Amino acid sequence: AVTLVSLLFCGYRLFTGQYRVPTPPPRSVQSSYAYTIYLYWLIGRGRYSCVYLGTLNERSVAVKVYSSAHRQKYINEHYIYSLLSLQQQPSITHFLCADERVDSEGDTQFLIVMDHYAHGCLSHFLSHTSVDWTSCCRMMHGITRGLSFLHSEVLTGDESKPALAHRDVSSTNVLVRSDLSCVLSDFSLSMSLARDPRHLHGDGDSVAISEVGTLRYLAPELLAGALDLHEYGTALKQVDVYALGLLFWEAFRRCHDLFLGRPAPHFQLAFDSELGQEPSLEDMHMLVVRDKSRPCFPLEWRDNISVLRQLKDTMEDCWDQDAEARLSAHCVEERLSSPTVLHDVSQQVD
Ligand code: ADP
Ligand code: MG
Ligand code: MG
Repeated sequence: AVTLVSLLFCGYRLFTGQYRVPTPPPRSVQSSYAYTIYLYWLIGRGRYSCVYLGTLNERSVAVKVYSSAHRQKYINEHYIYSLLSLQQQPSITHFLCADERVDSEGDTQFLIVMDHYAHGCLSHFLSHTSVDWTSCCRMMHGITRGLSFLHSEVLTGDESKPALAHRDVSSTNVLVRSDLSCVLSDFSLSMSLARDPRHLHGDGDSVAISEVGTLRYLAPELLAGALDLHEYGTALKQVDVYALGLLFWEAFRRCHDLFLGRPAPHFQLAFDSELGQEPSLEDMHMLVVRDKSRPCFPLEWRDNISVLRQLKDTMEDCWDQDAEARLSAHCVEERLSSPTVLHDVSQQVD
């Protein structure tokens, strides 16, 4: 026990010290330019980074650590947060500060410090918990509101922000608070869609338009290499909405109110039953581009139940093969807040 305690309090203090904020921080930490960051233990691993539970001064936080190999992703994510941080949007991960430091082996590490979300990412949460209809709608509404906010251009004075594309919408890039509300997270591949060139590139570095997110969630036009680069702002938003449709499918399959009193099926990522854990680009191309296949709806989701018909329509209108026919994130948000959708579903499904 003594060893464990000393490990917790000493061993996991990976580094400590006083640091200067490299760029003006968001309002929440503006009063203090010097702060101390401790890292405790690993809570998540992404494609480009490791995420630790930590503290920023006394506050419990999550710290995303990029190695120097992924410096460009760090610069990009920090830049995106700097565009978003003036407006504390409840559906976007709350960013606190960014930092650079040298670890004990002499390698530079790049840190993004943010609020810690107790339930971690959505795919992990749904893999061990099913949810009721109201919670599920609220969760999906939060994510959709976050995406709709990201996609919108705001032109009013200090609060202005360019339209942004997320470019890696997936259930591992959504985080869940302890009250089950959700935020959109992981902006390492996100991109400004501004016509104003000052907003186009973060610090001289930027991510390429052709660089893509998680294979499983790629829209057919990306898999086919047919993204409309002339209208890339519109095209990249449509790509995000496609992935949102898949995310809805993953989440509502875990809504026990939609299964006639039986337990909801186990959590599955979109296309898991068709292609398994590690689909290849060729597999995805055959399934999504050639066969125009999409995840199957459970048999219990009968069309004669209006709320289920609406839900299925919404998913289909998000993942339409024709990108131009897809809904906007704002429109999905409106559909989710309509009174018929929020109507107590259990009375209709029983
Ligand atoms: P990457 O860009 O490397 O994919 P992410 O930002 O997606 O990194 O983080 C990787 C994982 O770490 C997430 O899927 C999630 O499980 C966990 N994670 C990230 N940020 C937080 C946070 N603020 N609170 C709790 N868990 C987090
Ligand atoms: Mg991620
Ligand atoms: Mg990422």
